[in-house]
Amino acid sequence: MKLSNKIHVYTTMLFTVLLVLISLSVYFTFSHISYDSDLEQTRLEAERIAAGINEQESTSLSTDLLRAYVPANGMIRIIRRNGQAETVAAGSQQDLADQEYRYYQGEQVEVEKYDETPHAVAAVPVLWMNGEVASLQLTQSLASTSSNLEVLRLVLLVVTILAILPLFLSARILSNLITKPIVSLTDTMQEIRGSGEFKQIETEKQSKDELDQMADAFNQMIIQLERNYERQEQFVSNASHELKTPLTVIESYSSLLKRRGNKDEKLFRESIEAIYSEAKQMRALTQQLLLLAKQEEHWNVKKENIPLVSLLESTVVSFEKAYSRQVRLLSDSAVTVYTDEQKLKQLLYILMDNAKKYSDEAIAVFVKQHSSKVIIDVVDEGIGMTGQELEHVFDRFYQVDQSRSEGYGLGLSLAQELAEAIGAELKLTSIKGKGTTASIILAHSQKNLR
Ligand code: ATP
Ligand code: MG
Repeated sequence: MKLSNKIHVYTTMLFTVLLVLISLSVYFTFSHISYDSDLEQTRLEAERIAAGINEQESTSLSTDLLRAYVPANGMIRIIRRNGQAETVAAGSQQDLADQEYRYYQGEQVEVEKYDETPHAVAAVPVLWMNGEVASLQLTQSLASTSSNLEVLRLVLLVVTILAILPLFLSARILSNLITKPIVSLTDTMQEIRGSGEFKQIETEKQSKDELDQMADAFNQMIIQLERNYERQEQFVSNASHELKTPLTVIESYSSLLKRRGNKDEKLFRESIEAIYSEAKQMRALTQQLLLLAKQEEHWNVKKENIPLVSLLESTVVSFEKAYSRQVRLLSDSAVTVYTDEQKLKQLLYILMDNAKKYSDEAIAVFVKQHSSKVIIDVVDEGIGMTGQELEHVFDRFYQVDQSRSEGYGLGLSLAQELAEAIGAELKLTSIKGKGTTASIILAHSQKNLR
């Protein structure tokens, strides 16, 4: 059985039983009180009659005397100890005279049914003619009380039935109210399973009941799952982007080694050094990407004083070898910068990769000093970009012309994150059709090796 039906049936049943119990207790209490008061009245009346009879001269006692006391809805009977009785019944109650009777010694009150009609019977002792104690029994019909109770029975029955109807409806509304968020939760879960997309449940912001809290918790969980999923996706795309250049460098050096390694001692040493350094860089890179995937925005930066020119020289040589592209390095002075070597190299690779992809001429790397800053320019004479295109190049997955690039549009957004992490500034200037200059602006090291 569905939860909504269960709630519906159980609540309706429970309240119906309660209503019936209340009606029954109202009826029985009322009937008890009514009959008690009738009995009390009959007893008082019987006592009054007995007192009246006792005041009479004993010789004049007769049925005529009793007739004076007989109530319109009943009968008076005086029963002697030997069983003889004098009975006087009202005109409409002649049947009562035929009913069986009994001698009571003391006072007695009870309700008796004659012909399905309840009657109040009160017996009180009375002095009979010869001084003997007889029992005066006054019987009064309780037909009006009985019919009142019948009306009450009917009213309670109708009220109970009438109350069950709205009860039935409100139980349905209640069960729907409770199960609605559960149903929408289930629907959303099924939608997620079917489409593979992350969806949230719509909640009414005003009410903050337990069901809303459940929906909120579900939504929070979905947001977290989505964020984790995106982070994983980002990890995969970042990893493949960042491993591209080091892998190409390793590939080109190892193929050189395969061809000429054992003949050229200098080349052998250079290749091994490059492969070793790239492998080291890749290991650091993967560790960092893993770290980034786990917790957002936490780059593991290790800054130190680095002789810039030798770093640029080795990077440029590796790049030239890997892509068979000429890179001119122009640096007039030996400069030391205080930065993270691995990340600066990554940054250079990203910029040189773009210069290589979007130009066919030689690429140039310049180092300039400007007051307290050191500027590294990566210059190409390629296709360039318009000012409008330049505005978006740092957006993730943005590409001016997708058909031209075999990449993902991730390089520059990653470059900017890297630059921020090492405290450098990244600037791009470009002229459409003429070329592009990408500049890394670094702070001077305190200790300059001039
Ligand atoms: P990926 O770097 O992921 O392999 P990508 O090179 O297309 O792909 P980005 O490096 O972020 O991505 O560059 C974004 C876009 O900016 C490129 O698609 C390209 O259109 C433009 N762009 C970047 N550098 C240059 C450049 N030196 N010359 C001309 N256009 C460039
Ligand atoms: Mg790129």
